[in-house]
Amino acid sequence: IHHLQRTNVELEGRDLTYEWVSQIMYLEALQLTSREEAGLEKPGTTMQQIPTYVTAVPNGTEKGLYMAVDLGGTNFRVCSVQLHGNTTFSLTHSKVAVPHELMVAKTSKELFSFLAKQIESFLKLHHGDHYATHLEKRGTGDSAQDTEIFSLGFTFSFPVNQVGINKSTLIRWTKGFDIADTIGKDVCTLLQQEIDALGLPVKVVALVNDTVGTLMARSYTSPGKTGTLLGAIFGTGTNGAYVERLENVSKLRTSKEVGDYDKSTGEMIVNTEWGSFDNTMKVLPTTPYDDALDVESNNPGIQMFEKRISGMFLGEIVRRALLTLFQDGKSGIFTDADSKANDLHSTTNVDSDSALFARWGLDTSFLSTASGDSSPGLRLTRQALAKDLSINAASIEDAEAVKVISTAVGKRAARLSAVAIGAIVVASGKLEKSTGNEEDDVIDVGVDGSLVEFYPHFESYIREALRDISQIGATGEKRIRIGIAKDGSGVGAALIALVADRMG
Ligand code: ADP
Repeated sequence: IHHLQRTNVELEGRDLTYEWVSQIMYLEALQLTSREEAGLEKPGTTMQQIPTYVTAVPNGTEKGLYMAVDLGGTNFRVCSVQLHGNTTFSLTHSKVAVPHELMVAKTSKELFSFLAKQIESFLKLHHGDHYATHLEKRGTGDSAQDTEIFSLGFTFSFPVNQVGINKSTLIRWTKGFDIADTIGKDVCTLLQQEIDALGLPVKVVALVNDTVGTLMARSYTSPGKTGTLLGAIFGTGTNGAYVERLENVSKLRTSKEVGDYDKSTGEMIVNTEWGSFDNTMKVLPTTPYDDALDVESNNPGIQMFEKRISGMFLGEIVRRALLTLFQDGKSGIFTDADSKANDLHSTTNVDSDSALFARWGLDTSFLSTASGDSSPGLRLTRQALAKDLSINAASIEDAEAVKVISTAVGKRAARLSAVAIGAIVVASGKLEKSTGNEEDDVIDVGVDGSLVEFYPHFESYIREALRDISQIGATGEKRIRIGIAKDGSGVGAALIALVADRMG
């Protein structure tokens, strides 16, 4: 850690370490709760609090065969899900890369007819009987035909304006897609038109956000009969969706755009878009590395919470911290008498073409390796430095500094994640009620994403931080059950299709 002590670079305590974050956590949880409330009342707030029109969560007893498709980026996934009704399911799926020319096609039809063709191939391959029966009965007026129609949940991870469970217009394309013709159109209708053109027995009944899918998947598979409160993703990005009392979503009553929705459950899942928390408030402490990353990002001032939490950014924060230390001659990091760098006269062990100098040069999986390294002499971290950053023959002291920084950044991310989870638990009011029965008092949270799955101790850091939030404390933290919910865009989307069917 001597490197850190020797340097004048702003790396001392309050800049990168979590203690500072913990001191103001209470304040942040409060701020976040008030952002949530503002978002429920009116559109256009920083935390959007998007109503999803999904008005029930499953309890594990649901049964049936449903379909789901997922267009999220480079791949299109098609799957069918058999829900067994006992919290288990079987899933069949296929995946194809979306050809680049279709991502930038002239018309929506080119892309959506490609998607419909993938659904057709999937049906022929995996549900041949069902497909053939449908073809035979088509046009015969046989009423049995209706029951053979697959309900499909469409996970579509682009910004949309949703006005009903299967009514959503595209606001803009992201992630390399660019088809001007689609903007402002209803994406469920576009897909349904192409499905109908092929005569497939499929009805697009719901447009699904991946976070809502995570919540549904967890609620179906989680033990016990208490429905899940919150689904959260800590992967490339971060976001959460939770069950809100319908009466609190007051903007549903005042907006003119809102279509019909089922009100009987008195609840609706709200997609928080919490990645944008702190866009305008700026209550979160920043480091020089956060600031520089933000300024040089393609969306400065936007997604400020996400920029401190998610996989897309953590590697870059660590890279910037290491680079600053390295460039500050006094730190002495990555200089070694036994340097094996290309330039034998150099006193540094960093190759000149090292990814240390490249923006986005360091993947967040590096943090998991360094933070979790308990190998003798931090061998794994030194190997990762050589492999990922072309820093050869790093010393043990170097590796120790790298581990401290990686852990500070990772732990800060986990503690900030706890702020979001904590704010929703507190706002739900569940902590104030108790049945006296431990199982019924469980507050269930489903999580997904590489960070929470692979970063060492991510959940224990979250728990530690939840205990630090005064309205939760050790007693409240014990009631919160956190479980991995895999495959929100598969089984989660299928469950939303089921709920949409029941509501419809
Ligand atoms: P997505 O969120 O895109 O569906 P993932 O949940 O797999 O997908 O998240 C991908 C992100 O997780 C990337 O930003 C990547 O850098 C990061 N990541 C991948 N492996 C690890 C790991 N072992 N530890 C921490 N982060 C990881």
